[in-house]
Amino acid sequence: MSAVPESPPSADAHPLVDISGLGKHYGSGTERHLALTGVDLTIHRGDFVSLIGPSGCGKTTLLRILADLESITEGSVSVGGLSPREARMARLYGYVFQAPTLLDWRSALANVMLPLQVMGRPKAEARKTALERLEQVGLTEAARRYPWQLSGGQQQRVSIARALALDPELLFMDEPFGALDEITRERMNQDLHDLWLRTHKTAVFVTHSIAEAVFLSTRIVVMSANPGGITRVLDVDLPRERNFETRSLPRFFELVNEVHEGLRDAYAV
Ligand code: ADP
Ligand code: MG
Repeated sequence: MSAVPESPPSADAHPLVDISGLGKHYGSGTERHLALTGVDLTIHRGDFVSLIGPSGCGKTTLLRILADLESITEGSVSVGGLSPREARMARLYGYVFQAPTLLDWRSALANVMLPLQVMGRPKAEARKTALERLEQVGLTEAARRYPWQLSGGQQQRVSIARALALDPELLFMDEPFGALDEITRERMNQDLHDLWLRTHKTAVFVTHSIAEAVFLSTRIVVMSANPGGITRVLDVDLPRERNFETRSLPRFFELVNEVHEGLRDAYAV
């Protein structure tokens, strides 16, 4: 395991992400659609925040707004004290898309090297860093393979390694494990958790899986649709370090039930 030299998360007064009175609509006139309204949320350094809610409640929209891939209609958003655009220019975050978006003609290693090369890092240095990132996601052996020679889980590992290439403080992930079978998914959950703990990243993670949200998160944001917004925020008061025993703790089951209830309310809105 390679260590990324970073300081541990500290309790600080200034949230890393600050969302206030956020509203977002798509289109105009009769096509106008209110995707998000009245969203207030703060995310602190070292948090692992999951967004969960029914299809169409605006999870992807919210994540894309943070990443400056979507504009906002009202309210304010700051990321690391900057506007989303400035945060994007400063490479404050890495983004993992729902479907792996790897380049088919580049090996796993070359895919992870890409953001480093785009930033002008010398090839030898880019290669060394990319190999470290692949090691962090447990994929050293597959470095030379092409995306089509990798399983779905391995492809998402490469996507995560690529998102971490420039060692960003924030990691945004949009249902990265949605297409995986449950056993692979649990394994990916453990590995992502270990990575988060080890590298002190701050994560915003979209999921449909309640168990996945409880296992990974320090906080869970339950959202509802029509219009999209936050209905409940739960603190996950499990030990910070999670392992195979976590899923059998009584508190784990209680939290799963609490999210379940929150989602029932969300559907009832
Ligand atoms: P989720 O990720 O929670 O399923 P999305 O953020 O993708 O939800 O979508 C929220 C709402 O906004 C949905 O009703 C969706 O149809 C709508 N929407 C998303 N993207 C666009 C777009 N580019 N143009 C118009 N409507 C959109
Ligand atoms: Mg989505």
